[in-house]
Amino acid sequence: MGSSSAAADEFNFPKIELHLHLDGAVRHSTIFELAKKKKIDLHGAKSVEDVKKLLVTHQPANLAKVLAAFDIFIPVIKNDASALERIAYETCEDQSKAGVIYFEGRYR
Ligand SMILES: [Zn+2]
Repeated sequence: MGSSSAAADEFNFPKIELHLHLDGAVRHSTIFELAKKKKIDLHGAKSVEDVKKLLVTHQPANLAKVLAAFDIFIPVIKNDASALERIAYETCEDQSKAGVIYFEGRYR
C-alpha cells in the first residue's frame, strides 16, 4: 500500500452528516450547466473552472463574504423544483462517494 493512499484510507469509514445545506453543496458543474441553460450570467463565468474560482473562498473570510457567494448562484436554482430535485439527487451521490451513510439535508 502506497503512502498516497494511506491518507485516503484513514477517511475510509462510514460517516454521518447532521447539518448539510443543499444550496451549499451544489456541484459547480450543475450551477454552470443550469445558468447556461437559463441564460443567467455568473459574473462572466465561461467554464466550470470559472464558476469554481468565483464561488470558492481561498482565504479566511467573514460570514458575509461566504454568504455573498450564495447571492451569485441562488438565482440559478431558485423556484425551480426540478433543479432542486436534481441537486438533492446529486448530493446523495456525492455524499455516498464520500462514505456518508446518513445525512440530514436542508434547503434555506
Ligand atoms: Zn445551517
